[in-house]
Amino acid sequence: MSDYQPREKAPDEAFCSSCGAIIKKEAEICPKCGVRQKTVFANRDINTNWLVLLLLSAFLGGIGVDRFYVGKIGTGILKLITFGGLGVWWLIDLIMIVCGKFTDSKGNIITIRN
Ligand SMILES: [Zn+2]
Repeated sequence: MSDYQPREKAPDEAFCSSCGAIIKKEAEICPKCGVRQKTVFANRDINTNWLVLLLLSAFLGGIGVDRFYVGKIGTGILKLITFGGLGVWWLIDLIMIVCGKFTDSKGNIITIRN
């Protein structure tokens, strides 16, 4: 019996986009081959689009989909079970988005520019 165990990758690990080695998901550069990981940036920041957010809020805001979209899972669930605060919360969020004052889970304002 050999000591070598081919291991599965853990939930916080990913495969290097260049050499295929198992590396940490947060790793920007593969320790094995030194290649910068392209997927890291896409995974790190929630890629929010103002227009998509506006449409989600207008049509699905009553069930909190707009908040799920920006990563506000907690208040998204709250919005879902209250049916968008019986419409009030849904309207407030929609106005905030239109005015460019809506923020994502990290506090970044989502405007038409991004
Ligand atoms: Zn590599």
